[in-house]
Amino acid sequence: MSAEVEIFDTTLRDGSQLEGISLTVDDKLRIAEQLDHLGITWIEGGWPGANPKDEEFFRRAATELKLTTSTLVAFGSTRRVKGKVDDDPTLANLVAAGTSAVCIVGKSWDYHVTDALTTTLDEGVAMVADSVEYLRGHGLGVMFDAEHFFDGYKRNPEFALRVLEAAAEKGASTLVLCDTNGGSLPFEVETIVGEVVSHFRNDVIVAIHTHDDTGCAVANALAAVRAGARQVQGTINGIGERTGNCNLTTVIPNLTLKMGIETIPADRMERLTSVAHHIAELVNVIPNPQAPYVGSSAFAHKAGLHVSAIAKRPDAYEHIPPDTVGNGTRFVVSELAGKATLKFKAEELGLDLDGKALGDVVDTLKRLEHEGYHFEAADGSLELLMRRAAGWEQEYFEVESFRVTTDELPNGSFTTEATVKVHVAGQRVIRTAEGNGPVNALDQALRLAIASCYPALDRVHLTDYKVRVLDTEKGTGAVTRVLIDSTNGDLSWSTIGVSENIIEASWLALFDSIVFGLLHTSD
Ligand SMILES: [Zn+2]
Repeated sequence: MSAEVEIFDTTLRDGSQLEGISLTVDDKLRIAEQLDHLGITWIEGGWPGANPKDEEFFRRAATELKLTTSTLVAFGSTRRVKGKVDDDPTLANLVAAGTSAVCIVGKSWDYHVTDALTTTLDEGVAMVADSVEYLRGHGLGVMFDAEHFFDGYKRNPEFALRVLEAAAEKGASTLVLCDTNGGSLPFEVETIVGEVVSHFRNDVIVAIHTHDDTGCAVANALAAVRAGARQVQGTINGIGERTGNCNLTTVIPNLTLKMGIETIPADRMERLTSVAHHIAELVNVIPNPQAPYVGSSAFAHKAGLHVSAIAKRPDAYEHIPPDTVGNGTRFVVSELAGKATLKFKAEELGLDLDGKALGDVVDTLKRLEHEGYHFEAADGSLELLMRRAAGWEQEYFEVESFRVTTDELPNGSFTTEATVKVHVAGQRVIRTAEGNGPVNALDQALRLAIASCYPALDRVHLTDYKVRVLDTEKGTGAVTRVLIDSTNGDLSWSTIGVSENIIEASWLALFDSIVFGLLHTSD
């Protein structure tokens, strides 16, 4: 097993295959900066020539990106069947991309050569050899990405190895073994990678590229490293086509913190959580709270009676100190929580709450939870409630009134408009905004009213809005619980509102979301 493993990020190419995401060139540049900040060795920027966006990315990256730890890689494929390398557009685009290294994909499963490319196995091998030779001839570092390697190796190991040998003989630095269909299991991967590594000795770097179709992408990468792989490919937050790719935010700490292998620079491990959240924001996916290491629930304890034990002996309840990866311990508070839990929560927030104030908070929590509040799911509102109990009052703005109207237009579509009257910085401000619904319209109007005083609000976005009707027996007369998730890119929080009136419930949650955002977002 190697003492050091290169991390190769493929978020910008493979990761962007995730349904529903579409990255602009600016998004891609911002993501690359985050990857560099984390200390990733290789960043695959995209496929120049496959779409104009990726071409523009490489063009702008050359002048706008100041990478200090990462190296940009252009992705492409081998030459066409029976084609010539000199007039192959894909290879020309790879050279034109201006990176020092490229990664080219080729077929290593005989079935794909005969049935997808409909050519001979010899031509399949020649396509790889010629292409690697051509790119090396242009002074580029070449990684060869052996597509469907594991499926191919299981059926025809001689051919799969012949393809790798051709790439290695022509000077490829790295042989990337891809589990393209994602169907492999760790023990198979460990055996096959072991065989490939011993076949090539230390002449080339063997890399592992896994997909999560069996839920084993991370486990498969670890198994490959145990068998001698020296490069791991994957995406931040595991995003990617179908079930996703090997999740770098899981595999990096597993390799370093559990297996003692050097990956990203040691002093940057604590950036992992914030980079994972920042990239989720740029890609516009909601961070998974249960993600290992970086999820908001990864070190959350719903403890009740055990809370003091956890606070005293965290290593008895947590597999690593959460700050190693930039995360933190969180005590989840609900009506079941006693004073002890709230006391720790108060300490976590740096609040000085004495016994009487704590008792009042417990009583208030119980009353509100009886009315339908659920603070376990609303850490933002809980924090504000505790701050208020400690004597704090928000002074950002004061709401005089608001109104929302929804009209049906003659063409059958609906339009919603909200007007908010607030006092902010000594001024009375009235603002009206349209939205695609009442919550959106209120959010827009409130932001318009106070934005000039609080530019930081620009970074605060609502990411999710959930409505639950609590007493279905009463039908429309029931109580409505609204939960709003928000983020400022670094921090995510949830706020809650409960009322018989859905607009009031939404407003309460929205109000807390904005106040919490102002409290925790600097300009
Ligand atoms: Zn892939």
